[in-house]
Amino acid sequence: MKKIILIIAVFIGVSACKVNPFTGQKTLNFYPNSQIFPTAFAQYDQFLTENKVVKGTSEAQMITKVGQRISAAAERWLSANGYPGYLKDYKWEYNLVNDETVNAWCMPGGKIVFYTGILPITQTETGVAVVMGHEVAHALADHGAQRMSAGTLQQVGAVAGNIAIQDEQKRNLFNQAYGIGSQVGVMLPFSRSHETEADRIGLQIMAIAGYDPYEAAKLWKRMKANSGGQSPPEFMSTHPSNDTRINNLTAWAPLAKEEAAKFGVTTFR
Ligand SMILES: [Zn+2]
Repeated sequence: MKKIILIIAVFIGVSACKVNPFTGQKTLNFYPNSQIFPTAFAQYDQFLTENKVVKGTSEAQMITKVGQRISAAAERWLSANGYPGYLKDYKWEYNLVNDETVNAWCMPGGKIVFYTGILPITQTETGVAVVMGHEVAHALADHGAQRMSAGTLQQVGAVAGNIAIQDEQKRNLFNQAYGIGSQVGVMLPFSRSHETEADRIGLQIMAIAGYDPYEAAKLWKRMKANSGGQSPPEFMSTHPSNDTRINNLTAWAPLAKEEAAKFGVTTFR
């Protein structure tokens, strides 16, 4: 019986591996956008109705402006690398929510929330771009979908070959993968490798968008100084350690500028 489960798992694993243009790697992903996005969009809309969305302030406008620049940079990068239309199903949306938690996230399909509690740490438009780039990168690299897929494999194992995941199971997996449920919209921590990947991709995108990549390490230094507070898992100090993250970002900043130069971007705000 175990053997059969393994064969099934390997089969659907192989058939569900695609190369992600941002990571350049084959990753396990059972869920195409068409399956995940409707759930994400519905959860996002529900989140907005249950939280205090800030409208019309200069801060709210800044979140939108940075978000548009970051998403445009991602689209430019994809087009230049042979993936035009890759994000055609994205429905980008950028909202600021009045909540003192130090948090921000991007759901699949480009649904972004910043909490007002993170603004004292981002401080500037460029600081917002660091966090925006990082969160958008998690979505672009399909990190949540990968986590859902890992959850599916466990369930497939548990029910011995019942691959057809029902809608309710799918919703539960989504909620598990995104930490939605008891604490709506509080992202579970990603793995260390996913965090590092999001840092690297986010840095490139922010540079292409015209934001100084050297500001990323400074942002995480401010995050480190704040880490005694109530940071949720996504922004906790230990995973990866802030020092590793700061060192990586400092080392990668010149590469991000080189990447931006390919798009004619040589001055940074
Ligand atoms: Zn992250």
